[in-house]
Order: sequence, then C-alpha cells, then structure tokens
Amino acid sequence: MQNVYIGLGSNLHDPHAQVESGLRALAALPGSRLVQHSRVYDTVPWGRADQPAFANAVAQIETALAPRELLDALLAIERAAGRERDGTRWGPRMLDLDILVYGDRRIDEPGLRVPHPHLHERAFVLVPLCEIAPDLEIPGHGRAVDLLAGVDAASCVARGADARVAK
Ligand code: ATP
Ligand code: CA
Ligand code: CA
Repeated sequence: MQNVYIGLGSNLHDPHAQVESGLRALAALPGSRLVQHSRVYDTVPWGRADQPAFANAVAQIETALAPRELLDALLAIERAAGRERDGTRWGPRMLDLDILVYGDRRIDEPGLRVPHPHLHERAFVLVPLCEIAPDLEIPGHGRAVDLLAGVDAASCVARGADARVAK
C-alpha cells in the first residue's frame, strides 16, 4: 500500500458540495482506503483570476493502485462529476482531482508528474495539506510546513472554522 495525497478543487455548481462528493468518491476507490482529509477551504482562483472562487481540500489515501491506475480512476471521477475539458488551462471546473504526492515516488512522464509540479507554490494546496500532514516530506521540496512561508496562506479560509472556534 502506498501513502498518497490528493488535492480536490471545484468552482462551479456549489463547489463545497462538489468537493464533499469528491471525498466520498475517493472513499469508494478500489484497493484503497481514505485515511483522512482536511476541512474544505474557500480559496482565491490561481492562474486565471476571471472566474468564481474555489473550494479546495486535500485527502490522504492508502492505495494498492499504481500511479497510472490511480490517475485514470481520478479522471473517471471527474468525468462522472460532469467535468468538461474545453482546453482552457486553469479555467472553471466542477471537480479537479490531482495526485499531489505518491509515497516517495518522483514521476515525470507525459500526462503524469509527481509530486505535482505546482504543489509548492499553491496556498490552496499547502494550507489544507498542512492541516493533515505538516511534517510530510515532499520529494524534492522538503517538509510541507516549511513551504507555507512561500505562499499567501491568508488566501485560504476554512469554511466553518470561525463558527467552530465560537462554540
Ligand atoms: P494543474 O495540473 O496545474 O493543477 P489542472 O488540474 O487544471 O492544472 P487538468 O486539465 O485537470 O489540469 O489536467 C490535465 C492533465 O494533467 C491530466 O489529464 C493529467 O494527465 C495531467 N497530470 C499530470 N500530472 C498530474 C498529477 N500529478 N495529477 C493529476 N493530473 C496530472
Ligand atoms: Ca489542478
Ligand atoms: Ca487536474
């Protein structure tokens, strides 16, 4: 079994609900177990500002699926969620599932790069990742928590976090 971290994102049709249903789909992956996941965060669009705000989360799974098998399964979940690819990079999407880290593997193949090439520069990945795995060693980049200094963590707000504190 491999220890794998997956980033979830959505900015269309109730993004929080999309991310929640993505988490349920991860829990149903064959040969896999959903170990834990972060809260769902409201985040600022990355890459292209002219689109709705995002919901993002990070999940940890244990899986017997090989990297390509896992990628294919994630793309199938995206399609089932109604995602259509129109070729716009970093554009609006119903559900996006990225393999962030796959054990200690480093993969650089057409269609699959692990660790995810933008992981270290994205607050919407690092903030939820650090909620569940601050000490994770990201191959080639070091500890997750040490990468937080390089991003604007304030651009990610956990929905409901204030309400929880207030209780
Ligand atoms: P980004 O990858 O910068 O977050 P994106 O998620 O919007 O952008 P997509 O359109 O969802 O990009 O994916 C394009 C392709 O990226 C996928 O078809 C897949 O083959 C490839 N890909 C490469 N590495 C990964 C990875 N680690 N996880 C998921 N997809 C990946
Ligand atoms: Ca992505
Ligand atoms: Ca993707």
